[in-house]
Amino acid sequence: MSKHTAPNPHAAFDTLRAAGVIMWGDYGAWAYDTWASYNATYFDGALEPPGILWGLAPNNRKLGNYDTEFQIITLYSGLLDTEQTNLWGLDAWLARDLARDVLLHAMIHQKAGTSGCNYRSHNNEEWVNEVNRIAPLIGLRANAQVIPQMRKGQSLIWVTKEGGMRRRELSGWPMLSRPEEHYNPVTWKRFGEMIQGE
Ligand SMILES: [Zn+2]
Repeated sequence: MSKHTAPNPHAAFDTLRAAGVIMWGDYGAWAYDTWASYNATYFDGALEPPGILWGLAPNNRKLGNYDTEFQIITLYSGLLDTEQTNLWGLDAWLARDLARDVLLHAMIHQKAGTSGCNYRSHNNEEWVNEVNRIAPLIGLRANAQVIPQMRKGQSLIWVTKEGGMRRRELSGWPMLSRPEEHYNPVTWKRFGEMIQGE
């Protein structure tokens, strides 16, 4: 059952965005506006407006999450500059670039969840197709392929094709495919472990 079945998706978007602004001010507005711009730019406007929360993802090692039942994207609130280390406002967010990528990652889950495929997994046709499709649009090169398991003796091993993206990179895309200098060094220091663990 779809939870956001408003007849007019624009009306739903405006209402949800207004709620986001009430709850998180500029950060709420930023999340919805970035979502809307990514939906237009990378998904042909096909995604329905989700709820977007700043909070704790269900697994607290995660930077973001997409809940397919309620169509809710959660972005880890630690990405906000809650310590107010910088007083110059939104443009000076500690981890804004990272938050962008986490949102994009969640939106791929959103698209996969909407089309009824295995939205949790990063090792399936739909995910690798999306990675290969979006990568050049954000200035990355990608050679993503579904990685099969094969039996080797007693154990099962994952077999990555020569030059193909590894499983870890598939699950942490696009964060783990970004060149080292893409994120602020402070972002790496604070969130590096979480990026690696996605
Ligand atoms: Zn994921």
